[in-house]
Amino acid sequence: MIIEPKIRGFICTTAHPEGCLENVKRQAEYAKSHPVKGARKALVIGASAGYGLATRICAAFSCKADTLGVIFDKPASGGRTASAGWYNTAALERLAAEEGLYAATINGDAFSKEVKEGAIARIRRDLGQVDLVIYSLAAPRRTLPDGTVRSSVLKTVGAPYTERTIDLKKRELAEVTIPPASEEEIAATVEVMGGEDWEDWIEALAAAGVLTKDAVTAAYSYIGPERTHPIYLDGSIGRAKEDLYQASRRIEEKHPGLRAFISVNKALVTQSSSAIPIVPLYISILYKVMKEMGLHEGCIEQMSRLFCDRLYADNLPLDNRGMIRLDDWEMRPEVQAKVDAAWKRLADGSLEELADIDGYWEDFYQMFGFHLPGVDYGKDVETEVEIPSIG
Ligand code: NAD
Repeated sequence: MIIEPKIRGFICTTAHPEGCLENVKRQAEYAKSHPVKGARKALVIGASAGYGLATRICAAFSCKADTLGVIFDKPASGGRTASAGWYNTAALERLAAEEGLYAATINGDAFSKEVKEGAIARIRRDLGQVDLVIYSLAAPRRTLPDGTVRSSVLKTVGAPYTERTIDLKKRELAEVTIPPASEEEIAATVEVMGGEDWEDWIEALAAAGVLTKDAVTAAYSYIGPERTHPIYLDGSIGRAKEDLYQASRRIEEKHPGLRAFISVNKALVTQSSSAIPIVPLYISILYKVMKEMGLHEGCIEQMSRLFCDRLYADNLPLDNRGMIRLDDWEMRPEVQAKVDAAWKRLADGSLEELADIDGYWEDFYQMFGFHLPGVDYGKDVETEVEIPSIG
């Protein structure tokens, strides 16, 4: 089948297997060129896209670690392509096998008991123990054990907030008013995106004895500049991220010897960030500024710095709350001053000049395996691709 991108709202409903392979290959090449003595056996939860995928790639190709990935993706069926995460994972396993590295995957709901038990059984059977556990889920909802569904919302806390945003399709500025979340919505967002499930994972892994004595775990967060605080840091998602932070403290208290880090990462185009109001406008201006200053990074460059310059470096710099800051370049005063100046000039109608809309779209298409140089998109391709070690 000849596969073309089909965009609906914030997502693309098709994905290209060869483009996804090329995307993973490029990231693996980058990781190989930044080797580091670090993880030996890693479990990555939320491993098929964005930051989780890049982390798994660094574990495998920078550290030469065995990796077990937990994903929630769909294979191709009935004329539909598989999800990008499915193709990315197939590509990762294939490239790992070429290097003689173990890579296996569990496809299912990471919030469920069954997936946790499945992962533990797999670790016991194939790896013995893991020394790195990455929690990189970005989920819109969660099904509780009794079948109730909790959905996360991207709303403010307290008062509504009106700000400019971008209509990426029309390449135009627009204005949005984000309503405040109700108490129930905040609680549900915390249940989905907060730290409870991360703690459950660590509890289950520790009880099963599959964590090494020197194991490290990390989950990802975001802070961002003041302009985005009402929708992010001080909004419903920010409440969940604060809970994630508190979970890191609780994990360390409960499991002496285990380090549990929050890594605050850079704002980047991923399937999750595209859905946050205002943030895509901020990201497209940020891309423009950081590219001009030679400071731009994507997921793989960020995760490579996490491995080489933070987790496995001689010195691990932490902020005053004990968090790893990979948003250090994004938050540099000179970067933020330029973003701010551009934001103020938006009213002049110079959006195209101030924001890297093309760069945003390129990243968006590439997440689904499109627009990758060297891929022949006119060619008929097989949509059904196997993930060799899926369970
Ligand atoms: P993403 O959408 O690219 O990836 C999320 C991953 O979670 C995917 O692999 C998806 O399949 C998986 N997933 C979702 N629900 C699942 C479930 N129920 N079971 C198993 N897997 C599931 O998102 P991302 O942007 O890489 O986000 C990862 C983390 O990084 C999140 O905690 C996010 O808040 C954080 N973060 C993102 C940014 C950003 O700008 N994108 C910045 C800082 C921090």
